[in-house]
Amino acid sequence: PDHVVVVGASLAGLRAVQTAREAGFQGKLTLVGEEVHLPYDRPPLSKEYLAEGPLTDNHQFPDVDSLGSELGVDLQLGVRATGLDVAERQLTTTAGTTGYDRLLIATGVTARTLPGTDHLSGVHVLRRLDDAQAIRGALDARARVVVIGAGFIGAEVASAAVARGLEPIVLEAAPTPLLRAVGESGGQGLSRMHARHGVDLRCGVAVAEVLGDDRVSGVRLADGSEIPADLVVVGIGADPATGWLSGSGLTVDNGIVCDPSLRAAENVWAAGDVARWTNPLFDTAMRLEHWTNAGEQAVHAMENLLDPAAAAPYSHVPYFWSDWYGQRIQFAGLPIGEPEVVSGSWDTDNLVALYRDGDRLIGALAVNRRGDIMKYRVQISRRGTWEAALAFAAKRNAISA
Ligand code: FAD
Repeated sequence: PDHVVVVGASLAGLRAVQTAREAGFQGKLTLVGEEVHLPYDRPPLSKEYLAEGPLTDNHQFPDVDSLGSELGVDLQLGVRATGLDVAERQLTTTAGTTGYDRLLIATGVTARTLPGTDHLSGVHVLRRLDDAQAIRGALDARARVVVIGAGFIGAEVASAAVARGLEPIVLEAAPTPLLRAVGESGGQGLSRMHARHGVDLRCGVAVAEVLGDDRVSGVRLADGSEIPADLVVVGIGADPATGWLSGSGLTVDNGIVCDPSLRAAENVWAAGDVARWTNPLFDTAMRLEHWTNAGEQAVHAMENLLDPAAAAPYSHVPYFWSDWYGQRIQFAGLPIGEPEVVSGSWDTDNLVALYRDGDRLIGALAVNRRGDIMKYRVQISRRGTWEAALAFAAKRNAISA
């Protein structure tokens, strides 16, 4: 190809253009991104960035400055893609219309907001740097914090608030948080960390209204009770950023639907949080919102884009981490069924729990067991058996005893 265009200038977009140059692509390479910033790293935004002390800049990717100068990428920042015509190979953006030979889409996801709160200051989602800046400012001002949603983002914001001596209240609509991410007992078990670290988590609680005129003043629950607040952080999930693709010719169904090689259509590939593909390792269609996948998938998609004749399917063991109250939670694989605790317990910040699908090890959840999780991830990638996983766990337990 002569001209490769990448839409979405975050983790996946960055890794895609870097991969193109590493693979020897010398043609025109364009990176289009709606945000005005150079690509930056999101995980620190709900962690170190919110912590007390001087503001850290560890959300900067160290290699990002070389994009324009060394890699010769045509950086179009502050530019939003608004339309695509796959048949004509034309991309429309707020800066005009451009043709491409091959296109890689990495537009990620957009955080869900709470309806009816747009006019209220002090109500924030946490997806972008500007969101993190606003939340950090409110924490600095010692806000009374209410977090809506006890998912990973909500839990991390609560952790940051409590680390600063604040008393956040976390409201969760479902009876069990994180059900889809880690299963029923996994969600129950992990959520007990909140109480252990002094945070008030209330599950099965419906928010009727967020109160305030211009500024938020509190939250009214369905039972009529009110909780005062200066900061409300909404962590209720995210949706794929695909609105601009209507009429494009691509299939969109909870993400951009791709084949196992990450191809969405003739000359179009997708990667990162926006991409849905059939993962050959599990023979299952999935869309992940995990940092590790976004980077690895972008590398893979760009390699396939540059050499479609040699395109290989993308096999991947999902992996993510989250930091709560200074404790590291990690998950690998799929949360099928209910996990079995094989080491430690839910009542400590130290545990390994495994998930099975018949005779096969399918998932692993760990708290503060960094050495173990990657070993289970390898076993999952090799389609290891449940029996072998239990034997491995017993061996590890014997060593640590
Ligand atoms: P995104 O990072 O969502 O980037 C997409 C980019 O495309 C955005 O910059 C967006 O503005 C741009 N865009 C969207 N639409 C358009 C358009 N029409 N035109 C042009 N540009 C567009 N994962 C973990 O595994 N562990 C963690 O601890 C963890 N912590 C996280 C903490 C926070 C606060 C957040 C927000 C995410 C966290 N994640 C974590 C998830 C991880 O950051 C994502 O998986 C990763 O950012 C996905 O990268 P991406 O490039 O696919 O999409």
